Amino acid sequence: MTTNGAIDVTSIADLSAERKELLGRVAEVAKECAGRADTYDRTARFPAEDFDALFAAGLHAPAVPRDHGGLGIGPHGGDALTLWLMTRELAKADLSLGRCWEGHANSLGLLDAFASAEQKERWFAGVVRRGEKWVAWSGEPQAPKPGERRRFGTGLTKVDGGWVLNGSKVFATSATGAQWAILFVNTAGPGGAKHAEADPDALLMLACDLSDPSVTVDDSWWDPIGMRATVSHLVEFRDTFLSEENVIGEPGAFIRDGWKTAFVPHYAASFLGAAEGAYEYAVEYVMRQGKAADPYVQHRVGSMAVNVESGLLWLKHVARMWDSGRLDEARMAGSRARHVIEHLALETVDNCVRACGARSLVRPSPVERILRDLTFYVRHDNDDHVLATIGRATLGETHDATFYKP
Ligand SMILES: Cc1cc2nc3c(=O)[nH]c(=O)nc-3n(C[C@H](O)[C@H](O)[C@H](O)COP(=O)(O)OP(=O)(O)OC[C@H]3O[C@@H](n4cnc5c(N)ncnc54)[C@H](O)[C@@H]3O)c2cc1C
Repeated sequence: MTTNGAIDVTSIADLSAERKELLGRVAEVAKECAGRADTYDRTARFPAEDFDALFAAGLHAPAVPRDHGGLGIGPHGGDALTLWLMTRELAKADLSLGRCWEGHANSLGLLDAFASAEQKERWFAGVVRRGEKWVAWSGEPQAPKPGERRRFGTGLTKVDGGWVLNGSKVFATSATGAQWAILFVNTAGPGGAKHAEADPDALLMLACDLSDPSVTVDDSWWDPIGMRATVSHLVEFRDTFLSEENVIGEPGAFIRDGWKTAFVPHYAASFLGAAEGAYEYAVEYVMRQGKAADPYVQHRVGSMAVNVESGLLWLKHVARMWDSGRLDEARMAGSRARHVIEHLALETVDNCVRACGARSLVRPSPVERILRDLTFYVRHDNDDHVLATIGRATLGETHDATFYKP
């Protein structure tokens, strides 16, 4: 631990010199991004300059294999921890940026796992040379909330040479920033990947060029408490043609191969980054105010330090399983980590507010934004269902490690 309370990640994670240098570069860019986070949040704009800075620093293609010019990191590339630590650093600066970044990195991992050699050649060149951004969208919740008149969902029609898509998706992260989306769409009807009841084989992954005029963004839907700069808008598709050349992998491969389980600890890395942002702010705050001798402050700071370190150890533990090919163990351990880190992160932010007081929630304090963002983002999956799934697996019961369906 350093004197300002920051956790020394490199010593916990046993990183090579090359990985330390890489994460050092990420930390430099993240510092810049932290300075822009408030503006992106207030204006609910995609953090485009942050992505430009990542591109300029040679960090934009994390899960693209090295022989295609990328960094070759992530669970599929045999180095999960470096990607998760990178995400944690960016999320510490701005959790919305962390989410957009995760979506980009996860999509590149999917392309590496499932795209054909010709598709990789085509799409990775765009990422590496032109800084193109990707995202993956399921987002078709079917149960309307009170007062919600609009229904979300897409329908696919088979035509010569491809598919025609109609309908809408919500929670479409990076909707006004990304150039490409991997659409999770279902030949059996609305529901995408997460909200469909159909046979997994009905689920297709289709790459969509978002500059196609048949794809439009309705930014009136996205007015959330937090994560505003993720611009997770409602996106509409009107007779959008998606050619056979844009079909990624075999139908159902995403679910059959349990791919979302590789993303789950990645979400946790973002939660942890947000917690670290609050923790480091709290240490500086109470020291500046001369309150370090207060026993209650000491308790709060002690708890935050232990939480953040525990979260890092969990990530390292799960990453080691991915990287040593213990995939079955890694999948469930990722959910355990996600469950624990959600609670560690929320408690850390609460401790920060209790130690610092009301002014820590007055802008321009970043804690005000971190609290809103984290409260919202942990709803990405339902922790009750995550925990029930862990229980079912422990008891040898049938369970859904991908979407935690009851
Ligand atoms: C900031 C943010 C960014 C996101 N970005 C993306 C993205 O880029 N791509 C993407 O695909 N998705 C994204 N998501 C969407 C996310 O994956 C979920 O689809 C979304 O949270 C669903 O909205 P909901 O929780 O309101 O609805 P629901 O899914 O309807 O869930 C509401 C509640 O009901 C529970 N529930 C669901 N089914 C049952 C049941 N049968 N019985 C009892 N309870 C049930 C749920 O667990 C949840 O607690 C994002 C979410 C957030 C918060």
